[in-house]
Amino acid sequence: MDIEPLRAFEDNYIWLITRDDTDACAVVDPGDEEPVISVLEKRDLRLTSILVTHKHYDHTGGIDALKKRYPGVEVFGPGNESISQISRSVEDHQQISLPGMNLDFEVLSIPGHTEGHVAYLGNGVLFCGDTLFAGGCGRVFTGTFEQMSASLDRIRKLPPETQLYCAHEYTQANVGFGLWVEPQSEVLKQRQQSVEAAVEQAIPTVPSSLQQELDTNPFLRVEQQNVISAAEQWAGRPLNNNAEVFTALRRWKDRDYD
Ligand code: ZN
Ligand code: FE
Repeated sequence: MDIEPLRAFEDNYIWLITRDDTDACAVVDPGDEEPVISVLEKRDLRLTSILVTHKHYDHTGGIDALKKRYPGVEVFGPGNESISQISRSVEDHQQISLPGMNLDFEVLSIPGHTEGHVAYLGNGVLFCGDTLFAGGCGRVFTGTFEQMSASLDRIRKLPPETQLYCAHEYTQANVGFGLWVEPQSEVLKQRQQSVEAAVEQAIPTVPSSLQQELDTNPFLRVEQQNVISAAEQWAGRPLNNNAEVFTALRRWKDRDYD
């Protein structure tokens, strides 16, 4: 299995999944059809599946045009969000198999950014949409802070070598906020340097490994004493559990950093 980024809009990634032994392929979160069609044409690939993580337009805007162009394509997505183009509604723990590709993924329900957001886990990778970003996490829009915290807790427990494919190139800004939370972190300073170098050369900073996120992403470090202390200082009160620490970090970033 190969996974490649197709850039869309300002900073979106549409992930293209291919295999050497077939012309069938899949894309994740096609917000725009243009970058997908142009690479599929060039390489004579046939789109057999679309995986959707959530309802936002920058993840779904290309689906109608892709369905028109590749009439048999299956569209996998959460059934509890308003995504009209879904042909295979998915739910938590469901196993899906990508048509013509002999690749299986497990659906993880990870609400918070939206109420029905899902991720796709399998073959050593996680497509996590706008829930977990490299160095950060998504905003809480139509879900709740408690849901988002629980979703991040769930991701934290996956195998640390899992490669995380999120949907936006936000890493540089995220790492900057991480250093507000943990200004002493040497490993975070190193990450900042390598991210800056990558961005300068227009090299994607995604995927990252879960281990790297566990070491440097404040939103996955809500059980670390120095992260708790920083969040408590911002909140001006004691924080008693992961959800409270997460909520303080997220509000801190929303209000003072972004
Ligand atoms: Zn989104
Ligand atoms: Fe998005």
